[in-house]
Formats: sequence, structure tokens, C-alpha cells
Amino acid sequence: MANKSASETAQKIGRQIGPVILLGPPGAGKGTQSKQIVDRYGIPQISTGDLLRDHVARGTALGLEAKAIMARGELVSDELMYGIVASRLREADCKRGFILDGFPRTAAQAGWLDAFLEQEVFDKSSTTSSEEAENCPPVVIQLLVDYNQLLLRLTGRRSCPTCGRLYNIHLQPPLVDELCDLDGSKLVIRDDDRQEVISGRLTAYENQTRPVADYYRVQRRLVAVNADRTVEEVTAQILGVIDRHCHDRSA
Ligand code: AMP
Repeated sequence: MANKSASETAQKIGRQIGPVILLGPPGAGKGTQSKQIVDRYGIPQISTGDLLRDHVARGTALGLEAKAIMARGELVSDELMYGIVASRLREADCKRGFILDGFPRTAAQAGWLDAFLEQEVFDKSSTTSSEEAENCPPVVIQLLVDYNQLLLRLTGRRSCPTCGRLYNIHLQPPLVDELCDLDGSKLVIRDDDRQEVISGRLTAYENQTRPVADYYRVQRRLVAVNADRTVEEVTAQILGVIDRHCHDRSA
């Protein structure tokens, strides 16, 4: 459904957006903001966490390899990620652009992504239409959030196993304790949102993902956004950044 409405919107807008890379620690709101960008521009959200969870749920060899690592809140190996990301980015719905949520997460992944995009998106000899060749270069947006706010977001996160709706018991609680407002299902907590795993995920972020922001910062490609504000305010900042980026490139 989401893909169908995304492609309908894409046809309405019809212009190149290019890759949008969202950086930020777990709980910064990358998933929530990605959905707003999908609605606005009709480009797909590519969440590497979701791609991995899908492999785990389907019991693929890759999923079996990733499962224990994810449950500990550690990072899956770069080599494993490259295969998943490359095949997803080659799909037809990524031609006008895409949002990367959760990738790159190491400096090595950031270097790999630049080389991949250079080769497969911007190399005119490898594109099939002039429209693809006009693709915008990536815009890299870093969501900045206060550490205590992050903990509230992560420890309070719950989802409905039936309809997928997201809640936060501290910040956006359901009407009835622990039950979905829409269908009454008992809300669940993601394995890696458990208290003992959260500190591991934040440590992995500090150690491995901060260098990603540094990688883009030294190249003057990083745009920081204050993500401590309301969802709507953060969305307005992000859409402004993307619009300016695409406009500057096409002007
Ligand atoms: P997320 O839903 O983005 O928080 O990702 C959930 C888990 O999937 C992470 O804690 C990692 O174990 C794994 N993962 C997601 N994206 C990546 C990535 N780019 N590199 C390595 N591991 C990843």
C-alpha cells in the first residue's frame, strides 16, 4: 500500500530528488521523519533495520547470521550490509531518489556508498535515461537529540503487532494502558528496545556511527537539524533542507 501511494505521489511530483541520508542515534526519529519525506516526495524509505528484520522473519541465511548480532544491539558486518543495500538501491522505485534510514552506520559504509552512487547513479554511461543522469547528489541530514530525551523515546517505544501503529508510553501513550487504540491488541516491545540492549545500541552508535557524521562534516556535506522539537517542526526543517538542496542543484 505504502509503495503504491508513494509511486502515485511520485508521478504527481515527477522530479528528481536524489538520495536523502538521515543520520542520528537510535530514537532520533529517523523512521518517523522518513515517512513524512515519503509522503512529500514519493520516494521510498529504505530502512536497513527493516530489511534485516525482514530477513530474520523469513529465516533466510542472512537473517540467521544477523539475528544474534541484532539481539545484542551490535552492528552487522559491513560486507553483509553492502549486498542488501546494493540490491535494494538497484530496484526501479529508487530511480528518482530514496531515503536511507540506518545506513551508512560506519565510516567504511559511507565510503562504500559514495563509490556505489558514483558508479551506479551518477555515471552517465551506466544510466538508461537523461532523467536518471540528472539525479541530485546525496543530501545528508543529521538529527540532533538530547541524550535524556533519547532514553525516554527508546525505553517507551511500543508497537501494535496487528496493525503496526507506533506508541510511546511516556510521550504518546495509548488511551488504555498497553493496548492499541485501533484494534485493542496488546502492544509489544521490540527485542532491541529492551533496557539492557539500549545502552549497547547507544554505545555502538557513539563508537561507530559518530565517525560517519565526521566523514560528511569534513567534506562540508552535513546539514544538522534540531530534532528535539515536535515531529511537525522537525519535518518542516527537513523538507526545507531537501527543497533547497534540490533547487540549488537544478538552478
Ligand atoms: P535500526 O532499526 O536501524 O535501529 O536497526 C536495528 C539493528 O539492525 C541495529 O541495531 C543493527 O544490529 C542492525 N543494522 C541496521 N542497519 C545497519 C547498518 N547500516 N550496519 C550494521 N548493522 C545495521
